[in-house]
Amino acid sequence: MAGCNKTIVWFRRDLRIEDNPALAAAARDGAVFPVYIWCPKDEGQFYPGRVSRWWLKQSLAHLDQSLKSLGAELVLIKTNSTLSAILECIQAIGATKVVFNHLYDPVSLVCDHNIKGKLLELGISVQSYNADLLHEPWEIYDAKGQTFTTFREYWDKCLEMERELVTFLPPWKLLQATGTVKKCSIEELGLENETEKSSNALLGRAWTPGWSQADKALTEFFDGHLLDYAKNRTKLGGNSTSLLSPYLHFGEVSVRKVFQLARMKQILFAREGNILGEESVTFFLRAIGLREYSRYLCFNFPFTHEKLLLSHLRFFPWKADQERFKAWRQGRTGYPLVDAGMRELWATGWIHNRIRVIVSSFAVKVLLIPWKWGMKYFWDTLMDADMESDILGWQYISGSLPDGHELERLDSPEVQGSKFDPEGEYVRHWLPELARLPTEWIHHPWDAPDNVLRVSGIELGFNYPRPIIEIDQAREYLTEAIFKMWELEAAAKEANMSGTNEIVVDNCENLPTPKVILRNNAPCATYSSNDQKVPSCHNSRGSHLNKRSRITQKRPLPDTEHNSHPNEATSRTNEHMSSTADSSMSKKQTTSTTSFSVPQSFSSSKGNPVLESGSSEMKQSWQERIDMEQSSSKDGAIEDECL
Ligand SMILES: Cc1cc2nc3c(=O)[nH]c(=O)nc-3n(C[C@H](O)[C@H](O)[C@H](O)COP(=O)(O)OP(=O)(O)OC[C@H]3O[C@@H](n4cnc5c(N)ncnc54)[C@H](O)[C@@H]3O)c2cc1C
Repeated sequence: MAGCNKTIVWFRRDLRIEDNPALAAAARDGAVFPVYIWCPKDEGQFYPGRVSRWWLKQSLAHLDQSLKSLGAELVLIKTNSTLSAILECIQAIGATKVVFNHLYDPVSLVCDHNIKGKLLELGISVQSYNADLLHEPWEIYDAKGQTFTTFREYWDKCLEMERELVTFLPPWKLLQATGTVKKCSIEELGLENETEKSSNALLGRAWTPGWSQADKALTEFFDGHLLDYAKNRTKLGGNSTSLLSPYLHFGEVSVRKVFQLARMKQILFAREGNILGEESVTFFLRAIGLREYSRYLCFNFPFTHEKLLLSHLRFFPWKADQERFKAWRQGRTGYPLVDAGMRELWATGWIHNRIRVIVSSFAVKVLLIPWKWGMKYFWDTLMDADMESDILGWQYISGSLPDGHELERLDSPEVQGSKFDPEGEYVRHWLPELARLPTEWIHHPWDAPDNVLRVSGIELGFNYPRPIIEIDQAREYLTEAIFKMWELEAAAKEANMSGTNEIVVDNCENLPTPKVILRNNAPCATYSSNDQKVPSCHNSRGSHLNKRSRITQKRPLPDTEHNSHPNEATSRTNEHMSSTADSSMSKKQTTSTTSFSVPQSFSSSKGNPVLESGSSEMKQSWQERIDMEQSSSKDGAIEDECL
């Protein structure tokens, strides 16, 4: 503990003491003032749900204990302005510096940038660090300096980057910087209200938040289920995957440590000639890679204040049907696998990745529920609710990623049930009303003979619903919706080209998200090379931060544009992508030069959706394609098993 500096360590989603670069730097420098600032106003529409807040509360208490054992307490502040709270702390202790670790979600990126700018303006030294990723999103580009737009290429590049991953040991001892601020107790933060307490009590049986528990969970997984991860990772129920997502979300375990330990395991497996073990680590690291990729995409294709998220769906004729939405939420769609997933989500705040894909696809493609409603519900109910991973997931299922599912792909829950829950154990566990149904019918009870239903105690439409919609009909509706979307899109484009310049908003934007009540349930201002790259001030000023989520992508172009040189198209999209990282940074910043292309099937072969959408031949072949039930992943796609 060399200097006599007083540093504010601003904790956010880095709730650990091990491999925490901001904490380590502050401890090296002198006295520390660890603070957690809870500003509900800043959370806006991304205010965390009940289970997520429960997790946060336990984690903060745990972190406070750990810091106290090292000599400093975690100061908790509830405020209406994060900046004012930081300034108050600076004044109270006579701080010489503020340090924090980077966040990459589109809301934090802009907030952090603004706060940092203000502090620097006031002559306060600020330093930020990478504690959440293996590689900063501005470090990974292809040979031409372009942003990757497919996961496989991105991850191959990450793996080939020769880079020593530095990890920091927990500080040996902390010296508390003192001062009087308006701090509060953990209860006063208001992360859990009285009515939520009884439901939350159950969560503690299944989960123990906190960094030391994360460490334990990691060790247990590595010593146990990692070996069979390649084989079991798509199995529903049980602990086939690591269950690390909430710990990773809150930064309770260092991803660098996870990576290093996994690589060591892989080397050991290789030495032993254990091919399954080696392969398992490869798959597990890819999962970690997907988390990295979620941050990479959010950073390189910003949407909060420039573009719509899923903007290819902005003309989609959603069915804003509250009853359907309710049936989906309550697990009463009549499709056992979907219902089981939704009941598990409600009961535990966590579901397997496969189930997330199934239930979210069902909401968007079968029920035609506005994707925002579904995403908001996930946000409110997931224990690991994480903006970037959630965004990646919804993009993946709805056709906005070049290597994701196509929008027209509609998998039958019945087929998926027999594939991923062949014995029906998962369904029986979460739908006790179907517990006595023989395996043969468990994923399609509507086909079961009357006498089988009778002896199983099932009366369809009474104690278990009939399918909310026939799957064949859903396919038809989806096809119609896609054609309608094309028509509207082309009409809007034409209107714009004829000079009317009509501003079209996302169809989803017009639909208010129904309110779902989740009951019960040495002062010198510096910039350093460590600094986070953030969207430019120019773009963030005057932006409508927090208003809505957006992402950039290439949309089907009218004929004339489609026939032009590809580079021209690229340069046109550049315009829309210019809000990414601050290009004035000394590092080569080449974000924004590529965009997602909507899978080919989206735009017609000639690039004129209007003409072709009218053609019944086209409709027919389209329908056939949809009917083909594309259950295999396409070449180069993020494999189903992975995402
Ligand atoms: C529609 C949808 C929404 C999702 N929302 C979230 C979310 O809010 N928060 C969240 O953490 N994950 C989300 N995911 C990703 C994934 O489902 C979970 O990360 C995973 O199921 C967590 O289980 P695990 O920790 O046992 O994963 P493991 O298989 O053990 O993987 C290890 C870690 O890798 C990361 N990871 C694995 N798969 C993915 C993925 N597909 N995308 C991003 N990261 C991944 C997670 O951090 C995970 O903890 C979503 C996926 C979909 C399809």
